[in-house]
Amino acid sequence: MECRTVLEHSQALKEREYSSVELTQALLEKSRSCAGLNAFITLTEEQALEQASHADKLIAKGEGGPLTGIPLVHKDLFCTKGVRTTCGSRILDNFISPYDATLVERLEQAGMVMLGKTNMDEFAMGSSTENSYYGPTRNPWGHERVPGGSSGGSAAAVAARLAPAATGTDTGGSIRQPAALCGLSGIKPSYGRVSRYGMVAFASSLDQGGVMALTSEDCAYVLQAMSGFDKKDSTSIDQPVPDYVNALSDSISGKVIGLPKEFFTDGVDEEVAQAIRESISMLEGLGARTIDIDLPNSAAGIPCYYVLAPAEASSNLARFDGVRYGHRASEYTDITEMYEATRSEGFGPEVKRRLLIGAYVLSIGYFEAYYVKAQKLRRLIADDFSKAFEKCDVIVGPTAPTTAFPIGLKTDDPVQMYLNDVFTNSANLAGLPAMSIPAGFDGQGLPIGMHLIGKYLDEATILNVAHHYQLNTDWHRRIPEGYA
Ligand code: GLN
Repeated sequence: MECRTVLEHSQALKEREYSSVELTQALLEKSRSCAGLNAFITLTEEQALEQASHADKLIAKGEGGPLTGIPLVHKDLFCTKGVRTTCGSRILDNFISPYDATLVERLEQAGMVMLGKTNMDEFAMGSSTENSYYGPTRNPWGHERVPGGSSGGSAAAVAARLAPAATGTDTGGSIRQPAALCGLSGIKPSYGRVSRYGMVAFASSLDQGGVMALTSEDCAYVLQAMSGFDKKDSTSIDQPVPDYVNALSDSISGKVIGLPKEFFTDGVDEEVAQAIRESISMLEGLGARTIDIDLPNSAAGIPCYYVLAPAEASSNLARFDGVRYGHRASEYTDITEMYEATRSEGFGPEVKRRLLIGAYVLSIGYFEAYYVKAQKLRRLIADDFSKAFEKCDVIVGPTAPTTAFPIGLKTDDPVQMYLNDVFTNSANLAGLPAMSIPAGFDGQGLPIGMHLIGKYLDEATILNVAHHYQLNTDWHRRIPEGYA
């Protein structure tokens, strides 16, 4: 039963094939036996069993909705009341949140059962989950390989069938890249669609919470439950949330798929490119039409993102100073030394690198040259998308240039690591919804992800196209060896 989708579990719970408590126990047991993946920072067994038994009571009374009693895991940067929230960092190693993030609260209200908190790159800075204070997460498709990042613990957990769904956050690709590298479906909604309240901030103008699961259909159900206006987040959008689930069955005949030549370049691994080309032909076979489009400022995406994200991070992370919560150094003589020692001990090397870059690009003399320039580029990148979407409904390409790479391969070369985001971070810069779905395997049996970018607030169309692709393929059904 562990390997089923959210919807299959939902059906089984309704038909009393097994209870939520039984399912929860089985998944916790499997999670303990797969501890070597290092997918979890914290397992919340007691709380999970309480939530599951509450869900079983609702189900017995014929109450609850499609997600009642369904287990999931949360990326460890969503605040969870009474449960440790570390953000993969030593500086928050002992932090127990006094409140729940809105997303956590909404999924609990929908009846979902939290199994635990997953491993991640420290403060979501990374593309491989190697930047965690708690050590790297392994990819279930190849234990010597990274699961992608920064939501790599969430992705590894779902890929290993330790949970049917997981939350993640995506600032420049952190839901879509791990989904691609672990063979999952993952969606980053439009900026503002899902509340950021209680989500530890990395780069506030780019961060978005979302979901990873086995299918687009499952993503639609979970996204539905987490979306919508929240008065506690001033950047959340006060717009009705469309019925994502209903929209899945719409025909994709006549839908126009834009293919930017900038996404089909030499930098893409040939096996990845081939799988994406075949997938596009399949979508054409289902009635979609393709056109060539231009995203002329794409090449500016990486430099633009790697100025703006660190700038925002340097401001957001100023709050971790050892005064109110989190780690505090034990040896210091005055308050300045306390700050210095706390932050030196509490942050890992990648976070420190970002804080230095961020402070630099915001400093007098460099602000105009870097920060303001990057903001202008961000506008151009967003305008490119607006123009492209006058002609198409969805933009398709590869999610990542390669499949999962070996642990350690890029840790000494931050720029190589940043280049993994080449196709993903422009959607964040423009605030657009985007998703990755499984689209094949390479010769080594590693999953390949296809990237779909939608119009602003139009999650429904990418979920719909992805769903039709999945009705006609079975990549998303494959299970890594040893995890069935
Ligand atoms: N890889 C990007 C970074 O390191 C994106 C991370 C993310 O989306 N959280 O910043």
